[in-house]
Amino acid sequence: RAKAEGRGTHRFFEPAMDVAIQARRTVEIDLRTALAEQHFALAFQPFLGLSGDRIAGFEALLRWHHPVRGVVSPAAFVPVAEETGMIVPLGEWVLRQACREAARWPEGVRVSVNLSPVQFRGGDIDAVVIAALRDAGLDPRRLELEITEGVLLQDSESTLAILHRLKRLGVRIAMDDFGTGYSSLGYLRAFPFDKIKIDRSFVADLSVRPDALAIVRAVTTLADSLGMTTTAEGVETEEQLAHLRAAGCTEVQGYLISRPVPADAVAPMLGA
Ligand code: C2E
Ligand code: MG
Ligand code: MG
Ligand code: MG
Repeated sequence: RAKAEGRGTHRFFEPAMDVAIQARRTVEIDLRTALAEQHFALAFQPFLGLSGDRIAGFEALLRWHHPVRGVVSPAAFVPVAEETGMIVPLGEWVLRQACREAARWPEGVRVSVNLSPVQFRGGDIDAVVIAALRDAGLDPRRLELEITEGVLLQDSESTLAILHRLKRLGVRIAMDDFGTGYSSLGYLRAFPFDKIKIDRSFVADLSVRPDALAIVRAVTTLADSLGMTTTAEGVETEEQLAHLRAAGCTEVQGYLISRPVPADAVAPMLGA
């Protein structure tokens, strides 16, 4: 309608809401193209088991290799992918790709995949996971799914039922970014997580704020008594690592151990 006026004036007079919708639509089209043209890749960041100091697994982290913008971080496009529903096909691609890569790693090494709450809304995410495992020939016990409390927030019994079905198959379920939400303790009662990922904001404060250390200690003790393991995110210094060891954390992950690396750098890290 306003096309005749030229693009500049059109944008200038458009209400802010319309501009936002336009921008989102543009990103949606970009995401669709990127998926079709294989501009997405996974980076893998190891997590280290503290008993034995061995790499226990790798978290798959989505990267968008944009032809113009370069590497785009998930923080910039996952929210749009969620709003537009594009996270559903994109998330399935991540699952399939991560399982396929992990099937090439040594037996004991796990892979973890981040799932968006939106991926649970269709009610068939368990079928998608099962198909990805089967097609890759990956043992379900080597797959971990990282969910945030947003997944349990939309509650619905179907979400819990799906998680229980996956858990029964041997898939491990991790609570990501623990401590950043509102009622994390309630969620620990709602579902028997295998692993709790302590948010990196607590890890960052470990050396400077005594309360952070107290919280990390309390979480590891709590996890322990609930039969859950703990992974500390965002470990960047030796001092933080020493605190986490002393606190009895199960695993650590962060730039101190390694930044996320391309898929073909995983085997060399495992000495394979
Ligand atoms: P997350 O799952 O909590 O992942 C941890 C983020 O912290 C990653 O950022 C990782 O690169 C970064 N990180 C790791 N170690 C350190 C450290 O020592 N210091 C600092 N400052 N940062 C560290 P990334 O890759 O940009 O991912 C950001 C978020 O995007 C993830 O947070 C996750 O919520 C989301 N995400 C990534 N990949 C996927 C995906 O495939 N699907 C979905 N739904 N979300 C994804
Ligand atoms: Mg994660
Ligand atoms: Mg996290
Ligand atoms: Mg995080």
